[in-house]
Amino acid sequence: MSNPKNKVLVESVNLVKEFQISGGGFLPNNKNVVHATSNVSFQIMEGETFALVGESGCGKSTLGRLLIRLLEPTSGHVEFEGVNINDLKSNEMRELRKKMQIIFQDPYASINPRMNVYNIIAEPLTTHKICATKEETMEKVKGLMEKVGIRPEFINRYPHQFSGGQRQRIGIARALALQPKLIVCDEPVSALDVSIQSQILNLLHDLQDEFKLTYLFISHDLSVVRYISDRVCVMFLGKVCEIGNTEQIFTNPLHPYTKFLIDAVPKPDPFLRKENKELLQGEIPSPVNPPTGCRFNTRCPYAKDVCREKEPLLKNIDGRQFACHMV
Ligand code: SF4
Repeated sequence: MSNPKNKVLVESVNLVKEFQISGGGFLPNNKNVVHATSNVSFQIMEGETFALVGESGCGKSTLGRLLIRLLEPTSGHVEFEGVNINDLKSNEMRELRKKMQIIFQDPYASINPRMNVYNIIAEPLTTHKICATKEETMEKVKGLMEKVGIRPEFINRYPHQFSGGQRQRIGIARALALQPKLIVCDEPVSALDVSIQSQILNLLHDLQDEFKLTYLFISHDLSVVRYISDRVCVMFLGKVCEIGNTEQIFTNPLHPYTKFLIDAVPKPDPFLRKENKELLQGEIPSPVNPPTGCRFNTRCPYAKDVCREKEPLLKNIDGRQFACHMV
């Protein structure tokens, strides 16, 4: 793992994202708003891998897109190197966008299947007029292909001629082309075989060291998160439950939801498997009509009246942050 530095690169400041949904008349109290992220604040330090984890629908992918302004927040803002990016004009944002890139879960869906490898990787370079000549672009593309482990002689091939792992490597090369500082990795290995996953994770790790990259790593797979991340932010239904360094989160989780997530990770040892702790109760509540107080209260076995009445605020103790009335 990399050594996180003490300089803040990105800050999420009270980020709220609500999506209007149509036809909400049949919903309770005429509610027609999905609360994707609710008042989310955290900092990502330069050079670290900061993981966002939680079940599907917890708002982690929305948050990743808000942080690089692929989505506009309903309220709150994002600071990148101390600059409020939501205040930037489109030409200023275009310039800043070079420093922030994204890798998607399914590289096949995110790259144009009619473009060959050269065009896929060269596109950001030509869009931002990085190279003076076509020869220079060609050299740069070949260099990026080598960096991610794709042989340069495949430069004229098309995405369908590669395996899933190779396509993800091409997606990474494209993300690297503009020498970004931050890469949002949105479930980058979830669609890959386990053997290929480790190759891609090792590649991301090596590239982080070489290019001093900062990663926001979004994943529902805690084994992957434990392997790659320096710090972990656990989310439930659009809210932050807990933030801590990876070792703390996995060996001494504080928030009940974090504990359940960790307990749910499959154990290779059959004796450990037997002592499976309490399982999560019930379904995930609707983000259209989230529970009052603590959003986890309908699933939490430790819930008391106060949990249903009052929202727990994020406390910061000894570098750990958690939002629970009972911890
Ligand atoms: Fe459970 Fe209450 Fe803590 Fe929420 S605040 S996690 S309901 S104990």
